[in-house]
Amino acid sequence: MNYKYIIVGAGLAGAVSARTLAEKGHKVMVIERSDHIAGHCHDYKNDAGITTHTYGPHIFHTKNKEIWNWVKQYADFIYFQHRVLSYANGQLLPFPINRDTISQLFGVELTINEVEEFLKHEVEISTFNEPPKNFRDAVVAQVGETLYTTFFENYTKKQWERDPSELSAELAKRIPVRTNRDDRYFADQYQGIPSKGYTSMVGEMLNHENISIMLNTDYFKVKDSFSPSMTIYTGELDAFFDYQFGKLEYRSLRLEFKTLDTKEYQQAAVVNYPNDYDWTRITEFKKLSGEKSDKTTLCFEFPKATGEPYYIVPDEKNTEMRKKYMELVENLEKEGKFLFIGRLAEYTYYNMDQVIEAALNKIASIDCV
Ligand SMILES: Cc1cc2nc3c(=O)[nH]c(=O)nc-3n(C[C@H](O)[C@H](O)[C@H](O)COP(=O)(O)OP(=O)(O)OC[C@H]3O[C@@H](n4cnc5c(N)ncnc54)[C@H](O)[C@@H]3O)c2cc1C
Repeated sequence: MNYKYIIVGAGLAGAVSARTLAEKGHKVMVIERSDHIAGHCHDYKNDAGITTHTYGPHIFHTKNKEIWNWVKQYADFIYFQHRVLSYANGQLLPFPINRDTISQLFGVELTINEVEEFLKHEVEISTFNEPPKNFRDAVVAQVGETLYTTFFENYTKKQWERDPSELSAELAKRIPVRTNRDDRYFADQYQGIPSKGYTSMVGEMLNHENISIMLNTDYFKVKDSFSPSMTIYTGELDAFFDYQFGKLEYRSLRLEFKTLDTKEYQQAAVVNYPNDYDWTRITEFKKLSGEKSDKTTLCFEFPKATGEPYYIVPDEKNTEMRKKYMELVENLEKEGKFLFIGRLAEYTYYNMDQVIEAALNKIASIDCV
């Protein structure tokens, strides 16, 4: 079949690449293994009329105005500022940690200046390695042992099935701690939820006369039927190279969806459970979309080691293995026949805006574009 560009994957990386090439007049074939477009940001309206995120809650947020303007060509966005509560010590506390979290947890009233002093004191009375050797040390060095134990220790054990002292300090590099009362989860200037959902948004990107799509098709099974000038690959990095250096590790999730005959279940779209129960968090979807219904749909997340690839595991072994695969990628990209873009193909923790940016930049780097 005669397509100049083959794109493997109809997630955001694939859709952004396809759209950019199609607008330049190129014929593009998108091959998608699953039965739907939009990859990990796929959503659908369930029987109760509530937009449900298939792979867990997705909130679009970016600091980058260009990306915000680009994405708004394909969707109207509902104004949404993400706020998360964390159920700890029998209370619902704002998270990430801010002045109110500290006030409620410790039962103290503090000014902004006093918060800094308070945290400094918490750190001083704590025990940890300096410089931090691992995740535990890195968190304790920022907030002290009490806040670490309340919010991070057990959550991390549930999420990673490892003791925080075995995880890299890098993971805790950017723990947002606010001395003011800003209780938004993301501080990015542009935030929102596509009013018709992410699947519709990605569908709009792919809706172009130069774009064809094959669903339910594994690239590796059909690749010999095509002879494109270039293949843009957004699937798993190790799979492309037939796992020659080994299997890159991912954390996965078991998601349990429940629809209840009640208008409201919890006080925020997402409530974290660092210490109680086996789930890490519960999402109430209508609080993301603002949809009205007499019912409500919830998603309970249970971390697990195998299954759908959700989160990369950036430990030493995987980082080394990724490096070897990326050397092969670099060589292939230099030859000009392949590009590797996205969360799976680059084995990188990308948010949606970062995937869009990476795809726009990489496609712009192709000579003919
Ligand atoms: C639980 C969770 C919550 C998240 N929350 C947020 C959030 O709130 N905000 C945010 O910005 N980001 C969030 N993200 C990240 C976001 O999902 C990703 O950044 C984005 O979806 C990645 O897009 P992608 O195209 O790189 O990869 P994917 O969406 O994974 O797309 C890759 C596609 O390639 C297909 N594919 C793979 N191999 C083959 C093959 N051999 N043949 C054919 N097709 C193939 C796959 O089926 C898939 O559809 C979250 C991610 C997870 C897992």
